Amino acid sequence: MNKKFNGIGASSGVSIAKVFELIEQKINISNDKISDTKKEIEKFKASIDDAIKQIEVIKERALKNLGAEEAAVFDAHMQVASDPAMSKEIQDMITNEKCNALHATSVITGNYASMFESMDDEYMKERAADIKDVAKRIINSLAGVKSTDVSMINEEVIIVAYDLTPSDTAQLDKKFVKGFVTDIGGRTSHAAIMARSLEIPAVLGLNDITKHVNSGDKIAINGDTGEVIVNPSDNEIVNFENSARELEESKKLDAKFKGKKSVTSDNHQIEIAANIGSPKDVEGAKENDAEAVGLFRSEFLYMDAKDWPTEEEQYKSYSEALKGMGNKKVVVRTLDIGGDKILNYFKFPDEMNPFLGYRAIRLSLDKKDIFQTQLRALLRASVHGKLAIMFPMIATVDEFLNAKKEYDKAKEDLKKEGIEFANDIEVGMMVEVPAAAVIAKQLAKHADFMSIGTNDLMQYTMASDRMNEKVSYLYQPLNPSILTLINMTIEGAHSEGKWVGMCGEMAGDKNAIPLLVGMGLDEFSMSATSILSARRQISNLNYEEVKKLASEAIKLSTQDEVKKLLEKFNK
Ligand code: PEP
Ligand code: MG
Repeated sequence: MNKKFNGIGASSGVSIAKVFELIEQKINISNDKISDTKKEIEKFKASIDDAIKQIEVIKERALKNLGAEEAAVFDAHMQVASDPAMSKEIQDMITNEKCNALHATSVITGNYASMFESMDDEYMKERAADIKDVAKRIINSLAGVKSTDVSMINEEVIIVAYDLTPSDTAQLDKKFVKGFVTDIGGRTSHAAIMARSLEIPAVLGLNDITKHVNSGDKIAINGDTGEVIVNPSDNEIVNFENSARELEESKKLDAKFKGKKSVTSDNHQIEIAANIGSPKDVEGAKENDAEAVGLFRSEFLYMDAKDWPTEEEQYKSYSEALKGMGNKKVVVRTLDIGGDKILNYFKFPDEMNPFLGYRAIRLSLDKKDIFQTQLRALLRASVHGKLAIMFPMIATVDEFLNAKKEYDKAKEDLKKEGIEFANDIEVGMMVEVPAAAVIAKQLAKHADFMSIGTNDLMQYTMASDRMNEKVSYLYQPLNPSILTLINMTIEGAHSEGKWVGMCGEMAGDKNAIPLLVGMGLDEFSMSATSILSARRQISNLNYEEVKKLASEAIKLSTQDEVKKLLEKFNK
């Protein structure tokens, strides 16, 4: 029977293929008591080792297929699997209650997951998914059950599952897996983020799609509209095939922009760069013809490590990225840790508002030895390419000058040691704090360039936590307040003869691009897979026209009014 569903379009693309039902094997967990608690604890410990080994393998695969940013989720899994507090609670339950290991693991991990799930914070809710993923691994190992290995799929299918864990998603081979649909999940779930990186179409949050399919059914999915049809009619297949063709055509047209300059129809040139999280991501940046790396989030290097990464480790990583990009610029952002980004090996102070607290440049200026290690590594690597450095979260001129002082000290020290470094390194800053946008001109007297981090600029301007779904309606990139701050930054920097880029999500937003070009933004840094379509979009814009459009938009009162103006413009 033909059935239609509507879910959340989480990863773009249209596919029609056979259903592959990912069914969890049910494991019966009894509360049978055991007598040999020591043996049971050994069994439990072995299952933890087993889980850790599995996670290591998946992390390696994710690093290769998805890059550092997405692979970082498996560090969280590793933390859960090796969490001493949780492990102790399970072992205590085995010892004190003579509980079998399966039951104890199921109860304790279940308690932890429920605790995180009940939190209001979206980020914390995601941690519950991590705990369940790891718990499943430990329980399967204890029960001797092998879970379905999705990496072994070798025919064209669309996976239908209640949920797809990050471990499952990281292992999908896009040659065979043409898409996936799930009962639960949304656009910001790890599975969705990974699907977008892998460019596998996905529709999530379909409630009970698993109850309406059988293996072997045909299924059609549209990851843009969220439409799903089980056993589509011939007519419906034709419609889906047409949409797929249109998307393919669009991608082919994008591909024609490889090797071309990023210019408007009246020859106003800008630069389109890639955001990366590790040197491994350089490959994707080059494949998509990035003109530079506009943001290398160096914190992933720290988050992936077991301890503060050494100067040598960092030197290797920065050198690899610089060499990989050849003579193209690589903007490395110094450590942006704190807020939602934490380290296994460093205890952050307890704070009421971590996003307003001890993070990014504030931490680097407090922990000068750690800052010096990074600056020395960066300077040493600079001989291998075209390096630029920027400091995150600058709020005042003093902060920038203090950071610059540290940079000068690192240079002096290396000089004394007779160690070479490039002499043309640009040193800039991110504009993520509204205060910095307001005094962009004064800051630009000192900084070589500015890069606008809209993800944070938005949360600080609207006073709305970027992790909290209850206030996500305030994520309004087109609100005139945000547009005004962006415009002030660009005007301020330009008046001092400095260039301005943007590396927040907004830089790759199709709706925002005409306005940003119109405001005179010089560099757009975005996820590599968005670069060619942005270049194509820009080629169809007329600079004089979008200048007028931007100045009109800024004068409006609401995001909706700006959207209406854009609709009119796009007609
Ligand atoms: C930003 O804030 O826009 C940004 C690019 O930095 P991050 O998303 O890493 O905080
Ligand atoms: Mg930021």
